[in-house]
Amino acid sequence: MTEDQRLRDRAAAVIPGGMYGHQSVAALPAAYPQFMRGGRGARVWDVDGNEYVDLMGSYGPVVLGHQHPRVEAAAAAQAVLGDCQNGPSPVMVDLAELLVRTVRHADWAMFAKNGTDATTMCATIARAQTGRSKILVATGAYHGAAPWCTPRPAGVTPEDRANLGHYTYNDLESARQAAAVAGDDLAAIVVSPFKHDAGYDQELVDPAFARGLRALCDQTGAALILDDVRCGFRLHLGSSWEPLGVLPDLSAWSKAIANGHPLAAVLGNAAFRDGARQVFVTGSFWFSAVPMAAAIATIGALEEEDAVRSMERSGTALRDGILEQADSWGLPVNYTGPPVMPYLSFPGDDDRRLAGVFAAEALRGGLYLHPRHNWFVSAAMTGDDITRALEATDKAFAAVRKQLGNGESA
Ligand code: PMP
Repeated sequence: MTEDQRLRDRAAAVIPGGMYGHQSVAALPAAYPQFMRGGRGARVWDVDGNEYVDLMGSYGPVVLGHQHPRVEAAAAAQAVLGDCQNGPSPVMVDLAELLVRTVRHADWAMFAKNGTDATTMCATIARAQTGRSKILVATGAYHGAAPWCTPRPAGVTPEDRANLGHYTYNDLESARQAAAVAGDDLAAIVVSPFKHDAGYDQELVDPAFARGLRALCDQTGAALILDDVRCGFRLHLGSSWEPLGVLPDLSAWSKAIANGHPLAAVLGNAAFRDGARQVFVTGSFWFSAVPMAAAIATIGALEEEDAVRSMERSGTALRDGILEQADSWGLPVNYTGPPVMPYLSFPGDDDRRLAGVFAAEALRGGLYLHPRHNWFVSAAMTGDDITRALEATDKAFAAVRKQLGNGESA
């Protein structure tokens, strides 16, 4: 029996469902290991010692690669001084100053642990500031697992979601209509930097849509909240809509900001400082110093390593290689999203059967990717990692080709 299976058997007795949340492998092909032993750079090992090139980065947090020396040294140095104390460490102020310097729309920062904390705080601050209730989100968008925004209905009451309205991503008219329905009770519009709903082809943002949302918030006095939890510091070393010239009022961050250390941030502009001051938001571990020290080192390393550019280069090499392979196997694919956060699907593969065959064979070839979630290209990817990844994807396309039989398409 494998070590992974032994752990699964033990987990089944003491963890509901054997595992829960986004890291449960229950819906992944059977070959996926549930338990991981460690990682370094762009490589990870499961508990049975199998090595993979990592295209998931812990589902986003690991941006510089696993066990990044500068980040881990900063975290270890802070741990020697203290982590969870009676008051925050000076690194909290250092980090807030660094974020305000790095992110153009930000005049202040608050910290928490998870993306859900950050998006929920943004909504609460917007309501406190505006004195209004309604929040608009894009249909199908994921902004966290709290009752107000979770996509799954179990344990959620209609009252939890009574103040939520919906628009269609990239459809400005639908946002205008939803805003009109909310009327003078519109507190905020929440939006992600591009459409990255799990299980669907991704859609880049239409700049006119981004600008239109900004104008709509200006007209109505609602907050524009950018959910940068997944994209933050991967597309741009500021908030993700800075290249478009669209600045949100509030932004939610987590995942990559401390290269895997548990931290989230809410950044806001001066107009929402009062609302932020009024709300009571806190958590036992929200002031821990180690993740904040790790975040300072992460942002420093992202800058020094020109990480956004290097991820873009690696992501483009991966995309070009995969598209060439798909073509040579005669397999049409949709490869969507920015090169650093791609998603691969096979047209017509509605039950994701071919995506599953592809992922399982890639895994067997030593590449850890996901059949129904976007991938994350880290700054640690070397030429050798990309070569090895492409060897695995070539075998994966061969398996899909075999599954379909010669000449057939999805
Ligand atoms: N917003 C977005 C865009 C996300 O991708 C996620 C997590 N996948 C969240 C919010 C919630 O973050 P967390 O799981 O850390 O609470």
